[in-house]
Amino acid sequence: MSKIGVGKEVLSYCNKCKLTLAHIIVTMKTVSTIGKVECKTCKATHAYKDPSAVKATKTKTGGLKRKASKKTESISDMWLELVSKATSQSQKYSPRTEFKQGDVIDHPKFGPGFIDKLIDNDKIQVIFRHEIKTLIHNK
Ligand SMILES: [Zn+2]
Repeated sequence: MSKIGVGKEVLSYCNKCKLTLAHIIVTMKTVSTIGKVECKTCKATHAYKDPSAVKATKTKTGGLKRKASKKTESISDMWLELVSKATSQSQKYSPRTEFKQGDVIDHPKFGPGFIDKLIDNDKIQVIFRHEIKTLIHNK
């Protein structure tokens, strides 16, 4: 067992991102029970949710196999992988800020996005959960 405590990083299910992501422990219920966590991706603070418990409930309710359109599915798969693997803290998106490849941004409308590449000095290609967008930056 790794040590847990306030300020430590832990994997928790995020209700907002609908994903298991890295979270920072904000409060502890007891020395061994996590209270609240802050999502590193969307910055939301919520009760800790054990990712394995979430998975277990899902399979018990009988395989939620909702078929999305092929295109949406592959973008969201790619997004999920990129955002969950990203090591940098997410930054609020602003056209004035200069971003670089691999940054995770928090867009007020589209939510968390992963910067796939720099298209131009002032344009970035960002992978959001449901779409890939070109945004301006470094203005
Ligand atoms: Zn989140």
